[in-house]
Amino acid sequence: MNIQSSPSTSTAGGGSDTPHALVIGSGFGGLAAAVRLGARGYRVTVLERRDQPGGRAYVYRQDGFTFDGGPTVITAPFLLEELWELCGKRMADTIDMRPVSPFYRVRFHDGEVFDYQGDAEVMREQIRKFNPDDVEHYERFLRMSEQIFEVGFERLSHVPFGSILDMLKITPAMIRLQSYRTVYNLVARFIEDERLRQVFSFHPLLVGGNPFKTTSIYTLIAFLERKWGVFFPIGGTGTLIRGLVELVEGQGGEVRLETEVEEVLVEQGRAAGVRLKSGERIDADIVVSNADSAYLYKHLLPARYRKRWTDKKLERVRYSMSLFVWYFGTKRKYEDVAHHTILLGPRYKGLLDDIFERKVLAEDFSLYLHRPTATDPALAPAGCDAFYVLSPVPHLDSGTDWEAERERYRAKICAYLSSTIMPGLEDELASSHVLDPLGFERELLSHKGAAFGVEPVLTQSAYFRPHNESEEIEGLYLVGAGTHPGAGVPGVLSSAKVLDKVVPHADALVHRSARSAQ
Ligand SMILES: Cc1cc2nc3c(=O)[nH]c(=O)nc-3n(C[C@H](O)[C@H](O)[C@H](O)COP(=O)(O)OP(=O)(O)OC[C@H]3O[C@@H](n4cnc5c(N)ncnc54)[C@H](O)[C@@H]3O)c2cc1C
Repeated sequence: MNIQSSPSTSTAGGGSDTPHALVIGSGFGGLAAAVRLGARGYRVTVLERRDQPGGRAYVYRQDGFTFDGGPTVITAPFLLEELWELCGKRMADTIDMRPVSPFYRVRFHDGEVFDYQGDAEVMREQIRKFNPDDVEHYERFLRMSEQIFEVGFERLSHVPFGSILDMLKITPAMIRLQSYRTVYNLVARFIEDERLRQVFSFHPLLVGGNPFKTTSIYTLIAFLERKWGVFFPIGGTGTLIRGLVELVEGQGGEVRLETEVEEVLVEQGRAAGVRLKSGERIDADIVVSNADSAYLYKHLLPARYRKRWTDKKLERVRYSMSLFVWYFGTKRKYEDVAHHTILLGPRYKGLLDDIFERKVLAEDFSLYLHRPTATDPALAPAGCDAFYVLSPVPHLDSGTDWEAERERYRAKICAYLSSTIMPGLEDELASSHVLDPLGFERELLSHKGAAFGVEPVLTQSAYFRPHNESEEIEGLYLVGAGTHPGAGVPGVLSSAKVLDKVVPHADALVHRSARSAQ
């Protein structure tokens, strides 16, 4: 990795004929795009404004603890393996992926626990505890989830939706699979028990969606997890990011840190490169943006080039919720706490309405608690545990004064954990760091501080999301949470896979410029 920020002009290929691809941002989507473009003959430069790659998967290291900033539930590992294979390598040679069990421990407000597992028999036992009739209902729900997976994952997620015709082709299958229903609504058609409905409908929250609004396509996650499992890499999610950076560099590409793009340059209707905040201009044959899609269109591409994603249209878009994330280390171990725990509060729909619709910061909350040291003790000093706890909160339209609220909210979460599954927590803290909606806006340049970009509702899916091949100018492409198919590590890795279908192979550009030179 190279840290460089001197004002200058670099030309595409640096004198070589190899077409140059610029990638703005080094999230999972940006790095996966870089690997795919490298494998298709491009010389790739990734430009990242922060001092470390990873985006949401940034790693905070303090007081001897390693805190993965974002993704912790790693599903669909084959999407990552493909990237190593494109470089002639095996992921298993670099990354030690461990299956996590239970996938999630769901704790209800009254203290009852549901262990969500991959093993079919254990799942049946868990469901029976709550409602014996739902054992059979769950099997039927899982069969439906598999059918949705076959369409939603295999025919939708890696496919560009550049025209309304692409959408029309898939519509009959989507209607047959009831994609017009919401996740909760579809789950409720199978499952009777209200608490089990919550257990099988919370997944959209992992990608920024409200289970009461998100299209039921997202129920495919139930099958995806059952078939392939849930994983965590030894060393933390940051090892995946480091592994991807090594792949880019191994292909001859470069990841430049502390390098912020200020504008995508357009010449003769095509993306011609970028201008950095430092004033430096970098030329390129194609530009791929992994920045937040609303931020790209609002701030990096001047308004005169935008016909579809105007400032007015961007204001009408619904954005995902934000998150309050508290990373903390403890002086002792909490051995009884599972790797992934979901602590559901007293309200389900009411709380989600507060977050997504009314946009008010509620007094109650539902939490996700991450204890990576359950799988890899080396992420904390000996005898200690590393954690993060996140609370879904409204994005910045709530008007919450986070500077004033931050410590009160953190202390309230701490007190709740202390009174439930982490006794004495207040006195055991050894390290603490907070990321709130203001942090998402300032550190990750997310419009309205949304944690997952454009909200995943049916009317903002596929063709209706900002396209992977920009509608505005030629030679500009989008990857990451704010484009198709959407947020989550599998989603953004799939967005990079779409590039293979819409970006010409580098050889085609070489031939094109050779022809125009004749
Ligand atoms: C707390 C949290 C927990 C999550 N948990 C999970 C999980 O368990 N499982 C899961 O699958 N998903 C999870 N997600 C979602 C998942 O992490 C994200 O959807 C995904 O990582 C986003 O990747 P991305 O490719 O969109 O890029 P991002 O991670 O958004 O990265 C974009 C990068 O672009 C850079 N950038 C932006 N603008 C510029 C510019 N102008 N110049 C240079 N660089 C720029 C930013 O600095 C950033 O590094 C979680 C998200 C969060 C926030």
